Amino acid sequence: MRYKSGTKEYNRWYYLKNQDKLKRVRAKWYQANKERATINAREYYIRTFEAKRNVRTRWYREIRKKILNKLGNKCILCGFDNPWALQVDHINGGGTKEIKKQGGKKVYYQMVLEDINGKYQLLCANCNWIKRHENNENHIVSKYLTSFKK
Ligand SMILES: [Zn+2]
Repeated sequence: MRYKSGTKEYNRWYYLKNQDKLKRVRAKWYQANKERATINAREYYIRTFEAKRNVRTRWYREIRKKILNKLGNKCILCGFDNPWALQVDHINGGGTKEIKKQGGKKVYYQMVLEDINGKYQLLCANCNWIKRHENNENHIVSKYLTSFKK
């Protein structure tokens, strides 16, 4: 098989053909340049993973802002409006179950944003805990608390 040199296909073909040799060369280089290799790996990590993390963080921040805007920017029960303590609440309960069912927080956020049936509301952390307690939604917590009452 002939590929034009410099193309992705050529590089792969070349790599497969000379795999053992290349591995040996790389291992030798690594032995002679351990420090450099560590630095390279770290720089690579910082470049790629941090960049990805930033993109992810920005995405969550943006979609959260959109969701808060959509749901009125304050707790529907007491009017508390500090975004750091506002939580999206599934009106009929089962929010976390739905996250798991739908396969992740990202999908859940997207769902909340696109929901047109008014299934979600904003609650502050306090009202959310009280609601959970009153509806007995928080089985794990109540189990935990009753274990102290004995
Ligand atoms: Zn509240």
